Amino acid sequence: MQRILLTILSGITLGVLGTYALNISHIFIPLSYQAHFWLLSGLMLVNLFLILAAVRQLAIKDKYRKAHLRQVMRFIRAKLHDKEKRFKSVFDITSLGMATVDLDGRLREVNPSFCELLGYKLQDMQALNFFHLVESKNVNELQICIQRLIDNDIKSYQAEQQWFRKNGEAVWVTYLLTLIRNDKNQPAYFILQIQNITMQKKAEERLRHMAYHDHLTGLANRNKLEQCISHILATARRHKQSFALLFLDLDRFKNINDTVGHDAGDLLLQVIAERLKNSVRETDMVARLGGDEFVLLITDVKKTESVALIAQKILDSVRQVVTINGQEIYITTSVGLSIFPHDGQNMQALMKNADLALYRAKEQGRNNYQFYTVEMTGKAQEKLALQNTLGHALAKEEFLLYYQPKMELKTRRITGVEVLLRWKNKTYSTISPSEIIALAEETGFIIPISEWVLKSACQQLKAWHDMGLTSLTLSLNCTARQFKQSTFVDNLTSVIKESGVRPELIEIEIVESVIMQDTENALRVLEALKDLGIQIAIDDFGTGYWSLSNLRRLSIDKIKIDKSFIKSITKDEMSSSLVSATIAMANKLGIKSIAEGVETREQYDILAREGCTEIQGYYLTQPLSPDLMTAFLNHPIPDAETINKDEFTN
Ligand code: C2E
Ligand code: CA
Ligand code: CA
Repeated sequence: MQRILLTILSGITLGVLGTYALNISHIFIPLSYQAHFWLLSGLMLVNLFLILAAVRQLAIKDKYRKAHLRQVMRFIRAKLHDKEKRFKSVFDITSLGMATVDLDGRLREVNPSFCELLGYKLQDMQALNFFHLVESKNVNELQICIQRLIDNDIKSYQAEQQWFRKNGEAVWVTYLLTLIRNDKNQPAYFILQIQNITMQKKAEERLRHMAYHDHLTGLANRNKLEQCISHILATARRHKQSFALLFLDLDRFKNINDTVGHDAGDLLLQVIAERLKNSVRETDMVARLGGDEFVLLITDVKKTESVALIAQKILDSVRQVVTINGQEIYITTSVGLSIFPHDGQNMQALMKNADLALYRAKEQGRNNYQFYTVEMTGKAQEKLALQNTLGHALAKEEFLLYYQPKMELKTRRITGVEVLLRWKNKTYSTISPSEIIALAEETGFIIPISEWVLKSACQQLKAWHDMGLTSLTLSLNCTARQFKQSTFVDNLTSVIKESGVRPELIEIEIVESVIMQDTENALRVLEALKDLGIQIAIDDFGTGYWSLSNLRRLSIDKIKIDKSFIKSITKDEMSSSLVSATIAMANKLGIKSIAEGVETREQYDILAREGCTEIQGYYLTQPLSPDLMTAFLNHPIPDAETINKDEFTN
């Protein structure tokens, strides 16, 4: 091309220069006009020839170039086709699942491996959206990463996730998402590569399990236990919780192993492991440190006795006979306990102390448990024994009911009685009714005990009604556990009905905390009680965190001012102000008020002056047995001052 242009240019230049030279030469060399003409024409002809030759050359070159271009194009097309074929065969053959994905997530080209991995046919697959393949919990992260890909923040996004095949079967996949841009650098589509890693995951899981579990029993091993203790320590410190470590060592396991053989010994360990797992909650942990040593990690310990109870349960369960290969084996265990934070602030201290406690349990003759501190063992055991005795008290008819009267200040009339539980037990004669009730509430014995109280007290009330005291009311105390019991209202209804007393003469006393603990449920129960016509009193008023708005929401009949305020009513201005404010508020709201724990004439006078509705307390009498109460009720009360308390003291 360059040569052609050069020829044309030189032709033109030659022509111009020739003509010019000829014109100049004409000045120096005298030529005839004819000669000059022929010379000029010749020059022009040469010139024209040169230009024509160059143009021809150009035409030939162009033709050749076009043919060449066609050839090149054919070649490129062939090459491209070949490349496409190669790529397609790679796309079709590769075991890697591959797909192109539109920006809106629609799957475009999908290779057979992709379809196979997820168990779909090609046409089904193309109707799917990539976002629907990803579990919903992972979609958010995916969307964030897609945005980062678009923003060029990251080159590609890789994730390991669980996907689901068409038949619902879960598969673990690792996928790589790459964004492809067009010539203008705008996002065009994604390339998605996906691989099934389920086998690899399972292998990893197996390895992890082996690293953290005991191969014989499947229980956690020392690694896992230590990991868990560190974790629990952190949580317990943060939330001020308590947890316990129980170290177990089977008693004389070596002897058994030597007698029945190692295989049977292994089977025995497996049975014990299973029993230990069944003795604790899912949230607790059972580990085997090796040999016949086991450790239990009990989380969220509220009371020492509850751990003692677990330890006792373990002793009982291990003691059960084990039959292996037709042979009966009897084995026992010793248990050492340490409690965080009481017995140690870190893992080493807690483990060491549980081990020391275990050593003491062995010394004490095996088949027993010991806390790290001797006093704790004693206390826990005492409490368990008390719980045990209390559990049998109802059947042994050790409970009695006492009654304390309530007097209306305006009329000085006895309006009703409160029933109070008493436990007649030689060993536990010093335990107060409050402690008994608290223990019964903790253990659940409160339910049968309360049912008995209700039945017996209603019968007694009916007896007093039959004596002519037809308007006498009965106040019953009620605990949180009772309130939570779904059958509470139904039971109450049927007992009241059976006894033949009018529900309006029954009053239920509840403390503020029962309502505050689960307000919604309490409101439901209170409403049901109200529907039955039962009276509601708030006991120990002023000691809890009572919300005044509850007074509006609930139809409370009575407020029972706690005895602690009455006690200091004459000594402490604050208490006396609180009492008068409570009485005034109750009067304003049309709610009755009753002062409990009234012991003196002075207290009586203040309460009468403030307009309190009723009083209850030693000033009238202490709680009385049914017989003494009958006598009291028959005794007229001309004036509060003249009540002869000594006559009725028990
Ligand atoms: P509470 O319901 O506040 O009962 C009043 C307590 O004050 C009774 O104690 C009673 O003996 C005592 N008391 C009465 N007058 C006076 C007084 O003038 N001065 C003093 N200092 N105390 C007086 P008790 O009988 O020991 O009962 C304690 C708590 O045990 C009761 O407190 C009640 O919460 C619970 N309780 C008793 N019996 C039962 C029952 O059958 N069921 C339920 N759920 N709780 C009961
Ligand atoms: Ca009460
Ligand atoms: Ca009370």
